[in-house]
Amino acid sequence: MRKMEVIKTIKEMKAFSSQGRAMGKTIVFVPTMGFFHEGHLSLMREGRRRGDLLVVSLFVNPTQFAPHEDLKNYPRDFVRDRQMAEEVGTDILFAPDVEEMYPSDHQTYVQVEKVTRNLCGRSRPTHFRGVTTVVMMLFEIVTPHVAIFGEKDYQQLVTIRQMARDLHMSVQVVGMPTVREADGLAMSSRNTYLLPEERKAARSLYRSLQRAKEILQKGEQRASRILDEMNGVLQSEPLIRMDYIQICDACTLQEVDLIEGDVVVALAAYLGKTRLIDNLVYRSPSRASHPISQKDSAKD
Ligand code: AMP
Repeated sequence: MRKMEVIKTIKEMKAFSSQGRAMGKTIVFVPTMGFFHEGHLSLMREGRRRGDLLVVSLFVNPTQFAPHEDLKNYPRDFVRDRQMAEEVGTDILFAPDVEEMYPSDHQTYVQVEKVTRNLCGRSRPTHFRGVTTVVMMLFEIVTPHVAIFGEKDYQQLVTIRQMARDLHMSVQVVGMPTVREADGLAMSSRNTYLLPEERKAARSLYRSLQRAKEILQKGEQRASRILDEMNGVLQSEPLIRMDYIQICDACTLQEVDLIEGDVVVALAAYLGKTRLIDNLVYRSPSRASHPISQKDSAKD
């Protein structure tokens, strides 16, 4: 097994990256908030395959949480995370403190406009501004050639791609499929919050997406028909309270009435106090050359 190094300061991280670049190494980067599960590990394994140096960041980013959200209770287990990251071949675990990333006079934010307004942007209006700000900082510090994100957070992936494109960044943004539990529930650090009965009820989120997929594959193009069917599945579960459920254009994230190209069926729901998200990306068979059917974006 490779020996992994933990770096806590921006100065040391930058020194490592500039040395790696000077030696002609490809740097691959996986940003995370820790409490690792197979979803995170799948990104790291892909990173290991794609480059010479694999940097994983572990930083619970305060600016992407609203004051009433779960920043304080967000699950953390540094010792376990460090071991898991090392086992999959990470070279550097970059784990800065909040004060290192946000000194007291911090006042600059990065805001991607249109694609952040719908879906999670409605109930979490400051969330994506926090995400893009920290990812921009991390890109500046780590200077990756390739950065890997999960499709589980589909709107985040689209937002980062947009930022990379708009700001002419030279990082290649790669999206990876959602890793699920055996019963279909998308893996998430937040699943640990679920009480046993909530965990059981949460299966219906995936079932509703599977139902959508079946109908889409039969050629149904009316979004309302698909949403009705999904709501039928979800309403049979009284513990689920929907935040949103929408079918959107997979690139613009604008809601569509008629399915003509690639779409994302996206949902967010509360189980008790826990908010979970999930989605299905449906690539229209008739539009195989659409941009999102290529996994990678930004510039190579
Ligand atoms: P997080 O630590 O939750 O901020 O996630 C860090 C990265 O892992 C993000 O790019 C997520 O989209 C990705 N990720 C989280 N859960 C999953 C999953 N179940 N499958 C694939 N990727 C995931």
